[in-house]
Amino acid sequence: MTDRSACDFVIIGGGTAGCTLAGRLSENPSWHVTLLEAGGPGGTFMHNLPAAGYRMMGKPETDWMYMTEPDASLNGRRTMWTAGKMLGGGSAINGMVYIRGSQADYDEWDKEFGCSGWGWNDVDPYFKKSENYYGPPSDSHGKNGPLSVGPPRELHPLANAFVDSCKAFGLREVPDYCAGDIDGAFLNLATQIRGQRCGSNRAFLSPAVRKRSNLRIITEAFVERIVIEEGRAVGVVYRHDDQIVRIDARSEVILSAGSVHSPAILMRSGVGPAQHLAEMNVPVALDAPQVGKNVHEHASYAYSRFTTVPTYNVMTRPHQIAMNGLRYILRGSGMMTMIPVQAMAYLRSRPDLAQPDIKLQFGAMCINIETRQPHERAGFSIFINAAKPKNRGEIRLRSPNAADLPVIDYQMLGNADDLAIIISGLRQVEKLVEGGALGKYIDGPNEPNKVGLTDAEWETTLRARTNLGFHVVGSCRMGGDEQSVVDPRLRVRGIDRLRVIDASIMPKMPAANTNAPTYMIAEKGADMIKEDHR
Ligand SMILES: Cc1cc2nc3c(=O)[nH]c(=O)nc-3n(C[C@H](O)[C@H](O)[C@H](O)COP(=O)(O)OP(=O)(O)OC[C@H]3O[C@@H](n4cnc5c(N)ncnc54)[C@H](O)[C@@H]3O)c2cc1C
Repeated sequence: MTDRSACDFVIIGGGTAGCTLAGRLSENPSWHVTLLEAGGPGGTFMHNLPAAGYRMMGKPETDWMYMTEPDASLNGRRTMWTAGKMLGGGSAINGMVYIRGSQADYDEWDKEFGCSGWGWNDVDPYFKKSENYYGPPSDSHGKNGPLSVGPPRELHPLANAFVDSCKAFGLREVPDYCAGDIDGAFLNLATQIRGQRCGSNRAFLSPAVRKRSNLRIITEAFVERIVIEEGRAVGVVYRHDDQIVRIDARSEVILSAGSVHSPAILMRSGVGPAQHLAEMNVPVALDAPQVGKNVHEHASYAYSRFTTVPTYNVMTRPHQIAMNGLRYILRGSGMMTMIPVQAMAYLRSRPDLAQPDIKLQFGAMCINIETRQPHERAGFSIFINAAKPKNRGEIRLRSPNAADLPVIDYQMLGNADDLAIIISGLRQVEKLVEGGALGKYIDGPNEPNKVGLTDAEWETTLRARTNLGFHVVGSCRMGGDEQSVVDPRLRVRGIDRLRVIDASIMPKMPAANTNAPTYMIAEKGADMIKEDHR
């Protein structure tokens, strides 16, 4: 085993959280920080091109391509859980939608889960801290952070038509959905800079930050385990250039490998359910039964209608690509800058609910569900989720061999309430799309290919067609209770000098997409480390 000289902080995983932490912790020139990322450096022209995001999916160089176990709730189908594998992680491959969730989501973390210090008023400043907002004046955004956020430069007319139809259906248009209130319909903000993707690598590891002599970034460094001695994390073992390398951490090890790999690395290091570790022949450092549990994800069904106006999936003729390519290069505008989901709305499955429980995401494109390719006809899609899924699954080790990807045991439609919420959403969406501006453009059903399905038919359709929503959280949950994996200062309970800081610590998903919440967690985590090592 090769030895690398020690540093103060070792960060495992250079995704949304990891790059944020590397940027923030290396602000202190007396701290030596090392960031280890399993994937490549990313950041090329193609990586920054918004319309090319899908090209990084399903490729082993840029996507972990995790496969679930056969899912009984989806007729035994296995689904691929795409996850960014390069500097930037999820933020380098995602749909660039910027959304935080509602005040109630974080107040619930604080009050119901004992995560003191994580209520809305506590987290709001950290959302703002990360932002360099360029939209119309708003008190709910920050302007001094490195993450560029604002209205996308490209907006399909159908996105506005969707919001109009939501209003005709009785929803309100939310004036500022980043102020803690998402109850209604709105156009999305994007994490973009001058029409290009702004991921965590670009935002937090700018050329000036990379020049810092106290920051070392090592890509193609696959972390196998954390070295734990006498109840303390003292270093990390990783594979790099076919060599096994150990690096010691004088102050802390910070695990930011995302919701699938963070619990797996903990387990390979001996921190996890003792019985499972024994089955895997991993020596137990700490029996932590909750590691890998509480996994949840948005089950997502794409409802789709054909339209009489062109949508992105048909705007692919060579002259359109050439013209839009030129617009992108010269002006940073046009179709190449588009984000796939341009508007959102929230509905209720029961009118008496205090908070909406159905999430809708509108995209001016559609696919052919049989071929999984862009449809040859124009159409839109509305992705429907139970906003805060109740279903829970787990991550386990497949073997003690680090090269074997972890087991994902998740039943996407395994919870009857989630299923009922989605069906309620679909029933409402069928009416919603017929009214207002959107209804004027509809040219027949795409998916499902008929209208007026019964509940039983909807259930059959959903079990056959539902996919993931790309928002995996919860596998190293934070809590005030002794069973939780990390405490509200993100320290692993029972192990010194070890924190988990990424999407895996969310005790419960906010009713939103999860990238902005992960930036917030990393910003807050970085401040906690700074306070604790003052
Ligand atoms: C296709 C897709 C679309 C999405 N769209 C949106 C969206 O539009 N809006 C939104 O809000 N959210 C979106 N999300 C979700 C959002 O991007 C994630 O919630 C967020 O990136 C999670 O951040 P993280 O830091 O927890 O993990 P990640 O960003 O996944 O970072 C984990 C990092 O750790 C690295 N790593 C893993 N294992 C190891 C190891 N053993 N050794 C070293 N490094 C390792 C990974 O390569 C990765 O870089 C999307 C996600 C995907 C995949």
